Amino acid sequence: MRSQTLPACSRCHQDQLLSVANMPKTDAYGRRIQLELCKVCDTDKPAAAASTNFLTTAGGHDLSRAEEASQLMIKWTREGMAAYVWYWEDPPPPQPVLHRRGRAAQTPPW
Ligand SMILES: [Zn+2]
Repeated sequence: MRSQTLPACSRCHQDQLLSVANMPKTDAYGRRIQLELCKVCDTDKPAAAASTNFLTTAGGHDLSRAEEASQLMIKWTREGMAAYVWYWEDPPPPQPVLHRRGRAAQTPPW
C-alpha cells in the first residue's frame, strides 16, 4: 500500500503506519495475516524499529539504498511472521558436486 492510502494502525488507531504487508498465510482464526509497521507501536521490535528508522530518515528516499531497504523489509517480515509462529525456511545449502578422480567427466547415458 502507498503511504498516502494507509489506514490507521489497528493497535494504536493513529495515522502512524509506514507500511502494511498482506501475507500469504492465515492466523489461528483463518484470517489473512496483515503486518503493520507503525512508528508508535513497533519501537520495541528490532527489525521493525530498524525499518522505521530507515523509512523515516533519508534512507526511505535514497534509491542507492534499495538493497538495504529490501533486506530490512525481509527482516521485518520475518519478525512479524514469527509472532504468528510462521517462519521463512531458508533454502538448503548447495550440495557438493561429486567428481570421479582420475577420469574425465562422462556424458550421462540419457
Ligand atoms: Zn500503532
